[in-house]
Amino acid sequence: MSPKTNGRKISRGQALRAQKQAVSDANRIANQYLDASAKSTDKSKRSKPVDDGSRLKIIGLGGFDGAGSKNMLVIEYQNDAIIIDCGHDLGVDLPGINYGIADTTYLDSIKNKLRGFVISHGHLDHIGALPHILPKYNVPVYGSRFTIGRVEEIFENFGIPMPDGFELKTVIMNEATHERLKLGGFFVELIRVTHAIPGSTAIVVDTPVGRLINTGDFRLDPNPLDHEKTDVERLEELGREGVLVLMSESTNAEQLGRTPSESTIEKSFIDIMDRAPGRIFVAIFSTNVNRIQMIVNAAVHHNRKVALDGRSMISTLEMSVRNGFMKIPKGTFIPIASVPNVKDDQVVVVCTGGQGEPNSALVRMSMGDHKHIQLKEQDTVILSSKPIPETGNDALVGAMVDDLMRKGVHVFRHETYELDGAGPLHVSGHGRLDEAADMINMVKPKFFIPIWGPYRYKKRHIDVAVQQGIARANCINPENGQIISITKDKMVIDGDVPHGTILVDQTGAIVSTIVVKDRVLLAEEGVVAVVLTIDKKSGQLLTSPDIISRGFIYMKENEELMTALRNELRRAVTQRFKRVDLDRFKAELKDYITHFLYEQTQRSPIVIPVVNVIGGRPEKQGTVTATTGEPQPQKTPEEIALEQQRRFAQMRQRLLNQDARVD
Ligand SMILES: [Zn+2]
Repeated sequence: MSPKTNGRKISRGQALRAQKQAVSDANRIANQYLDASAKSTDKSKRSKPVDDGSRLKIIGLGGFDGAGSKNMLVIEYQNDAIIIDCGHDLGVDLPGINYGIADTTYLDSIKNKLRGFVISHGHLDHIGALPHILPKYNVPVYGSRFTIGRVEEIFENFGIPMPDGFELKTVIMNEATHERLKLGGFFVELIRVTHAIPGSTAIVVDTPVGRLINTGDFRLDPNPLDHEKTDVERLEELGREGVLVLMSESTNAEQLGRTPSESTIEKSFIDIMDRAPGRIFVAIFSTNVNRIQMIVNAAVHHNRKVALDGRSMISTLEMSVRNGFMKIPKGTFIPIASVPNVKDDQVVVVCTGGQGEPNSALVRMSMGDHKHIQLKEQDTVILSSKPIPETGNDALVGAMVDDLMRKGVHVFRHETYELDGAGPLHVSGHGRLDEAADMINMVKPKFFIPIWGPYRYKKRHIDVAVQQGIARANCINPENGQIISITKDKMVIDGDVPHGTILVDQTGAIVSTIVVKDRVLLAEEGVVAVVLTIDKKSGQLLTSPDIISRGFIYMKENEELMTALRNELRRAVTQRFKRVDLDRFKAELKDYITHFLYEQTQRSPIVIPVVNVIGGRPEKQGTVTATTGEPQPQKTPEEIALEQQRRFAQMRQRLLNQDARVD
């Protein structure tokens, strides 16, 4: 492959514009996740840190921008504030980023008002940010027994040590007895709802202005597997007493009708177990405890043992058993390592990987990388979930299913259950539009705020509220950071607060947006470093220019271009080095190389010029002299340059030791 010149003359301006374009493309990708300091909001409209008005404020620091998002709401009145939920984003598609959490700059300004975090349920988009955010405020966390179990679980498994003096304080609230607790000037109550994890609740907050209800995630399943239906009686009772504001979740607000009952999938599992000739593997969310209990019951009924695999699976189920949310007959569970010793038609493996997550148990099995399990023909795999929308997981699941099928494994998944001759294998944990309408009718609020979803879902949800008789003027479709200001007879948007996203990597560490932008640019365009060693006195190059390229072009296939670039660099040194100062020289060099490479390739890699100046007074010798304490014999500039080149080669070897290229 030779460099593309296309015979066109390209101006320096064109080249710089192209690079600006590449930078702005990277910015646009990374800017979806800016922190609060980088967001341009109208500061004049921001609320004062101390606000003595008699209005109630509801502020979403996250969760008003997408399903599976970093859900987090502030409820604030005079000198008291509580936080509802503290989740992390489920899908952030940036290099090296695991998830995003809410920027809590605003909470810092009302720190002394915070009375606690009240959590609706134990999914990560509702609790996942707690280990990052809670230690800064060190107030108690309130929730149902299962939710608190989940909170303790994620703190135990968090990779980074907690700051000194922090102690997790939790308060278990009984949703069955409608226990009410006083948090500052608020009274809080939890109400049982059906969702896809035990202990899910709606949150009632009685404030001096009126009563708020936050539904959490819910559906109105008439026949849930654990028989714990949504507490419709209590919701209706509160509705009769009067509710000022309903905040209702919008996940399925683009779906007509009702979500089918969880119990409809029980028969599908029993059918498959009746027929399966060999081992059965079920991939499922570890938090879907009731469904896992149903699968365990079916396995026991079919005289099969159950093995668990995947870190989160073992951790969540251990917590569930400990807290009495699962009942496992003695002798049912066997370790994953002993699965090969059990007859094939006598075992079910319940594992992680239903989203095709890299490194999950099922993905490792599908790739033949699992320590204990080699998949074989006659094995059956059931995927009991659907890829979370807008996370890119559907492609991951697709690739995993391909690998499974290559191994001759019989795969059942929900998307193709009719083709597979099975019954449905998954139902959503979220109610559809008819259930959203029922919630509004039970609670009969004066004001309506759709929550937990992107703008378009929330808009649909408002349409439903209007059909149910709520005045359109009494509904708000909020954005993150907006202050929803509420009195007994008015609800308006009144300014905003700092808000944004903080990015977190696989280890749990915070990653700067600038670093992420560089990564995006590197991923798109690559990098070229040019190392020049120049004699200070003569202003001449002491060695041939050293060019290092990664992710740009493969240099061995572009000798011609590299030779041309070296010649250009030699000319640049001769013409400019002695005329301008070093910083200016480096800036010009960067510009010049950018231009040259764009002209030759129509691409704009990140360019890093490294200029070593040798000679002159010792303290100006840059990185050259090694300080051993011993007086060094005087070296010639050529010797110094050679030694430096050797050191560069060693350094590069260390930095890129998985990559043997030295060009
Ligand atoms: Zn949920």
